[in-house]
Amino acid sequence: MDVIVAGDRAELAEARRALGIGGPASPGKAALALVPTMGALHEGHRSLMRLAGEHAEHVAVSIFVNPLQFGPGEDFSRYPRTFDADLEVCAAEGVSMVFAPAAEDLYLPDRQVGVSAGEMGAVVEGAFRPGHLDGVLTVVLKLFNLVRPDVAVFGQKDAQQLAMIRRMVADLDLPISVVGAPTLREADGLALSSRNRYLSPEERGTATVLSRALFAGAGQRTPGEIRRVARAVLEEEPSVAVDYLVLVDPATFAEVGEGHTGEAILAVAARVGSTRLIDNVTIGL
Ligand code: AMP
Repeated sequence: MDVIVAGDRAELAEARRALGIGGPASPGKAALALVPTMGALHEGHRSLMRLAGEHAEHVAVSIFVNPLQFGPGEDFSRYPRTFDADLEVCAAEGVSMVFAPAAEDLYLPDRQVGVSAGEMGAVVEGAFRPGHLDGVLTVVLKLFNLVRPDVAVFGQKDAQQLAMIRRMVADLDLPISVVGAPTLREADGLALSSRNRYLSPEERGTATVLSRALFAGAGQRTPGEIRRVARAVLEEEPSVAVDYLVLVDPATFAEVGEGHTGEAILAVAARVGSTRLIDNVTIGL
């Protein structure tokens, strides 16, 4: 009897290999890396494509403005859509495949089942955008199932999104390696974002207060000081409406206590005019 019995994940992967049906992403260079995006591609997206190319033979980019992750009154309808320019960016970066589905093709009209981001999806960004992280995880899982990458690359710019995708991969045993990519910034510190194009020239100047606050906080040594100094910089721009400024555990997004050691993420969300921006830095404590 040559039935292969697999008792754990590693044995299951071994059994699949023995049967010649592949296995989960291997540590070497994988076949396909996916970079999920909403388009309006900028240098930050390009850096993700390059990083993806270091991890896999082929890079796929998805371009999809996901209605599920926008709340009522948010910018879904006016989100920048620049498909032709995006395709040129992907071609210039040596991307092998662009997946750009229509919403009607991706979601069944009588859709019932989705991914729940759990309690972790209801804090920080999730507290201000209810259902947002459920919508992100649901579309990312669908993209994983459709494109079937070995590796997926996400930016640290959306730190809670990255942490939740790592959580989903662990909780649902997805056979995908998640790679986090550093945040690309303008020379004056502003994190690149598709939403920066909403800013007027004056707002564009004001918007640097987010990164200035984060960098000032990162120069401090205790959670209390980090929060106090970052908050004080934000308050120098009273026109900026702060949704949150938090110092959280990178894996759970729970606020860290005064005795915390290891890494913490200082994250901010604020509205500059009518544009909502987010940013974060990782601090070693
Ligand atoms: P988006 O198109 O905004 O959904 O972003 C697609 C991917 O690009 C996400 O994984 C983002 O975290 C990442 N990203 C967005 N802005 C930046 C940036 N300034 N630097 C690096 N990655 C970014």
